[in-house]
Amino acid sequence: MSKNRLTYQSITDMLADLNAQDRGRYFICTCPECQEQEAFIYKNNLNFIQCNRENSCGERFLLQIAEKNEDYTYQEEIEQKKGLTVGQAKQLNQFTELMHHFLHHIQSDALDNGYRGLSRDTTTPFIADFRDAGVSFMFEYAGDLLPKDYSTNYWMCQRNLVAPIFGEDGRVDRILLRSSINPAIQPKELQLIVNPSNKARDFFVDVPEKVQTIVISEALLDGLSFREVDKEIGVIALTGSRKYRNLCSYLKEQASEYQDRKFLIAMDDDVAGYKAALEVAHCLEGMDMDYQLFSYPEAQKDANAFLVENPKRFERDVQLFQQRFLSSDDRSYMDVKKEMKQIVICHSNVDALAFRSVDANIGVMAIQHQGKDKEIEGRLNRWMKSRDMFNKTFLVALPNTAEGQTEANIVVDLLQKNGLKYQAFDYTNVPYITPSEFVLTDRKAFERHVSLQYPITKKKPYER
Ligand SMILES: [Zn+2]
Repeated sequence: MSKNRLTYQSITDMLADLNAQDRGRYFICTCPECQEQEAFIYKNNLNFIQCNRENSCGERFLLQIAEKNEDYTYQEEIEQKKGLTVGQAKQLNQFTELMHHFLHHIQSDALDNGYRGLSRDTTTPFIADFRDAGVSFMFEYAGDLLPKDYSTNYWMCQRNLVAPIFGEDGRVDRILLRSSINPAIQPKELQLIVNPSNKARDFFVDVPEKVQTIVISEALLDGLSFREVDKEIGVIALTGSRKYRNLCSYLKEQASEYQDRKFLIAMDDDVAGYKAALEVAHCLEGMDMDYQLFSYPEAQKDANAFLVENPKRFERDVQLFQQRFLSSDDRSYMDVKKEMKQIVICHSNVDALAFRSVDANIGVMAIQHQGKDKEIEGRLNRWMKSRDMFNKTFLVALPNTAEGQTEANIVVDLLQKNGLKYQAFDYTNVPYITPSEFVLTDRKAFERHVSLQYPITKKKPYER
């Protein structure tokens, strides 16, 4: 038995050493016994190679990845600084390698034919399918990195689609799990921390050096939807709307690297999404970064659903945002839909998001540049031709400064002239100059303040 056991340092070494060539579900390899290129390894069972020359050779070998103790490549001190034992570090490296193998080499019925509107080209570097290999196989590989042994847990092992989040050092920090075997399984998505050190990254980053624009989305599938229609876009994807904090510190740390990029913020069209968008926009503004807020057409609430239901329109909309980055300095956030009964006219994108993060159905006109009244007048005239503006109420929420007051008077005159209903944002006893300053300092008080002025329609949160 010991004769037929081969040990390698890593999966990559093993495949190189055996001259493995990709043949879909298996690799064709050089037989370690007869040296003919006729042995095969099934991709979903990397522990076994068999020679196909049944009559003249037919030899089989068990394949192993090294478990050497005196491994000089792991420096205990460095790993401990990262919060890992040498054993965990080694396992993490092997798990990372397994992930790369499954991301890039495994055929997948679920992914090859397109998954949620995403082609295999788009999903390849992000999503691995463990259906054929068995999800339990993956959990075995993660061994001591996970708090529990999930390899025998039927409910966990149905989650065959695995999206690894790679940390700064290139190792897997977390995995997100979904199921194509059982699409009805709840919750739809689970996260596990694989890197037991304390700073496991909780967002995806895929920003090639040459890309100009980076989309920041609330979930991986949304970010990948942009990549699907624009191969040249960088992707930063949160793992939920409440996970913006680590992203903001990351962006600050990497400020110089991102200085010349452009950001497209595309969170979901719901209150939680706008809260996250507000935080991220506030963070980018603090760093003086160029960004726009993506807006959705009526009935679309997230980018992936938009891509699936209306791919042509989605692609066109993404192109429009890209063109705007290139052709103009205007980054104003405008989103007024037919169904919206209340429209905020404000000064900045973050002020607009302040209101949307209380009621996602408030329309917004954020006019940032000089000559605001002309811009607003032009917009209103165009909109009044195409939709009923008389059933809407405008909230004029310009900054509580002398300049803001002057602008507010001009805007109010304009609304009166057109016979439109309006209110002015009430700054009485409000110690803040702008709505965004208000909400970022004291969200509860801001929510009370807005709901007193405006009857807020509490809509059910959107569920993807
Ligand atoms: Zn052979």
